[in-house]
Amino acid sequence: MTREMGKVLLETRGDVQEGIDTAYYAATEGRRLFGHTAPSELPNKFCMSVRTPIGVAGIITPWNFPLAIPTWKIFPALVCGNTVVFKPASDTPATATRFVEILLEAGLPPTVIQLVHGSGSTVGMPLVEHDEVNLISFTGSTNVGKQITAAAAKNLKRVSLELGGKNAQIVMPDADLDLALNGVLWGAFGTTGQRCTATSRLILHEAIHDKFLSMLIKRAEKLRLGNGLETDTEVGPLINPQQKETVASYVKIARDEGAKLETGGEAYTHGECRKGNFFLPTIFSGVEPEMRLAQEEVFGPVLAVLKVRDLQEAIRVLNNTKYGLSSSIYTRDVNGAFTAMRDIEAGITYVNGPTIGAEAHMPFGGVKETGNGHREGGWPVYEFFSETKTIYVDFSGKLQRAQIDNQQ
Ligand code: NAP
Repeated sequence: MTREMGKVLLETRGDVQEGIDTAYYAATEGRRLFGHTAPSELPNKFCMSVRTPIGVAGIITPWNFPLAIPTWKIFPALVCGNTVVFKPASDTPATATRFVEILLEAGLPPTVIQLVHGSGSTVGMPLVEHDEVNLISFTGSTNVGKQITAAAAKNLKRVSLELGGKNAQIVMPDADLDLALNGVLWGAFGTTGQRCTATSRLILHEAIHDKFLSMLIKRAEKLRLGNGLETDTEVGPLINPQQKETVASYVKIARDEGAKLETGGEAYTHGECRKGNFFLPTIFSGVEPEMRLAQEEVFGPVLAVLKVRDLQEAIRVLNNTKYGLSSSIYTRDVNGAFTAMRDIEAGITYVNGPTIGAEAHMPFGGVKETGNGHREGGWPVYEFFSETKTIYVDFSGKLQRAQIDNQQ
């Protein structure tokens, strides 16, 4: 994975561990595909609901978590009794191939999972449109998610979407600033900012703004970029040259809009890194909530810093995007923390933790244009991958008519 997409080795191991954790969780969830039983409104009649497979699951995944994300989808799909057609991202075919080989080595019948390599237009969209594919689980950009929804609507196919984010971390004056600093460094520059949950906005209370910003710049400038296979590397490259171009274009956009470049802002070309897609950890201050840098997903190591007067404004600024995946607040004020937990519009809120770091047994997903209401991880994903069948057994030996035979 590190050789294929650049993620540093420690994070590659984390990506694999998340797949392993998801496997263990899926194995136990297989014993818990609960239905319901309920009393009947009629005598001598039994009511229950059970979960049944849906059929063929089309799985389309991105390159940034080339193992963990496929496992989030494929294990629940299989445990629920479906078969899988898996289309991984074009940038990470090797990890996907190895994963499927491992599943086959582990004894999965070869007819149960098919791996199809190819681009979004030649393989992804035909999968979405295919009459014999019964559902689609997709993780990727919001734009492609909308195209998939439109195509799948033609035959009312079930679709789960996990899409983009513009995640923010709030830091209040009463926070443990060193803790908040470690949080934002990991959230913004871990995986070179290429996480759907990456911290791309930092919302600082005015009372600690200047102090925190200078602490942050000092630490960001010390991050070690390089080959992810070397154990002291902290930040790897961007996925491909196009993404490097995109990140550079956002630096220009932010400057043109009047934000102040505090550090970074250009490709990193030192030594061997000149051959790769490295980009310096970049921080802009003076970012206003309506600027494009505060609104659009960059998917790179670029952090926008916004200054606010109080918690209400911080939450308003945090909510002011079309996305709603992850969020974070650093504070020691219990009233403020609970206000944030209630008022932040996001699928995930961390208190005194960074915006990244999902646990396999908890629901994962976002609100607004980050998705379409489904969740991965945890128990809800098993509902997405199965159908509910309601069964009535009438053992009265006579015709009983619901809503009619119980009237006086
Ligand atoms: P992407 O361009 O949307 O691609 C994702 C997957 O969809 C790839 O396998 C891609 O194939 C395929 N695809 C592209 N166009 C398609 C089409 N018209 N029809 C069907 N499939 C198509 O996203 P990305 O750049 O790989 O990933 C980054 C995005 O994913 C970011 O927006 C990030 O926030 C989001 N993401 C979200 C989550 C989450 O859980 N919310 C997690 C991780 C990433 P090709 O590789 O062949 O283009």
